[in-house]
Amino acid sequence: MNEIRERILQLQPDLIALRHDLHAHPELGFEEHRTAAIVAEWLQKHDIETLTGVAGTGIAGTLRGEAGEGAVVGFRADMDALPIEEQNDLPYRSRHVGTMHACGHDGHTTILLGAAAVLAQLRAQLRGTVRFYFQPAEEVVSGAQAMLTEGVLQQMRPRWVVALHGRPGLPLGSIGLRAGVMMASADTFDIWLQGKGGHAALPHLAEDPIVASAQLVFALQTLTSRESDPSDPFVLSVTQLHAGNTYNVLPQQAHLAGTVRCLCEETRSRVRRRIEQLVDAVAQAGRLNGRFEWHAGVPALRNDEAVVARIAQVAEESFGSERVIWLKHPLMGAEDFAYFAQEVPAAMFYLGLGEVADWHNACFDFADGAIAPGVEMLVRLALSELCT
Ligand SMILES: [Zn+2]
Ligand SMILES: [Zn+2]
Repeated sequence: MNEIRERILQLQPDLIALRHDLHAHPELGFEEHRTAAIVAEWLQKHDIETLTGVAGTGIAGTLRGEAGEGAVVGFRADMDALPIEEQNDLPYRSRHVGTMHACGHDGHTTILLGAAAVLAQLRAQLRGTVRFYFQPAEEVVSGAQAMLTEGVLQQMRPRWVVALHGRPGLPLGSIGLRAGVMMASADTFDIWLQGKGGHAALPHLAEDPIVASAQLVFALQTLTSRESDPSDPFVLSVTQLHAGNTYNVLPQQAHLAGTVRCLCEETRSRVRRRIEQLVDAVAQAGRLNGRFEWHAGVPALRNDEAVVARIAQVAEESFGSERVIWLKHPLMGAEDFAYFAQEVPAAMFYLGLGEVADWHNACFDFADGAIAPGVEMLVRLALSELCT
């Protein structure tokens, strides 16, 4: 126990410096060239086999234990930043205008590199293999799938994969857990209502997509208020409504767009079907043509129960049960680690960041105090499978 903590403590100044460097040089999805170079250099420095250029800027590291054959386990970190102008006044404030690490992926990358370094020091004790997946483009929910398409799980099938995400508001260094659904699916849609338009003073001769759009927005909201099982909530938000460009013309077309967040596949397909029906019904009532397009996004993230139980046990042994927080509800946000969880037993846990600004806020900054407990969790998880 103390030996591992000692190793992490020795590494801590380097890890904090690394995190600050990544924070100062944020890169958007699929543009993480500098970050990927730093990750690759670090892994190679610790004699970890490093495959670069996976799905563009992704990296897969392989650490082979020297104590014999055993399972493969995997860890995933995301590396990308967000198109937000940082408002923090920090010595390591973002040097890239309009881009910042406002979701803590600088912290996630640092923690996984820290775990890789410690596990590399312990390789003589490891029976099996640890895989490290550094994925690009989580914020645009496409990096995970791109890496999976390149076969990172097939190359060496892991028994389980774990990821962590820093969470503002949870006590610093605590572990937030939930078995089953952890985060929602995220799909988007476009709707067009089309008619012949006409003179604003002669509405009886025209077909009006604006009034129909207003009806449709309300009708869509009744899906969440009247058709959703309160124990299986979903979110439907209309986020765009465009129609017309002057005062005296009823336009020919209105365009609506939005997003749907669900916690299970059945609800996801039911909501999609119901939106389509409402578009048809409202269009028909308004003598308009309705067109509906659904863009399937990331599925809900479902944490494997056995993997969650392992994380809970490791966290309790390492930090005490009072540091383990069981989350009552899933979050309606989405996370593309869900694609890993569709392929292999997987779970994500939250790492408490204490009182920092919220995710995607221009004042967010990952808590350096969470790095050591994060590294310790990943190291001990690997040891729990490979060092028995
Ligand atoms: Zn984010
Ligand atoms: Zn994130």
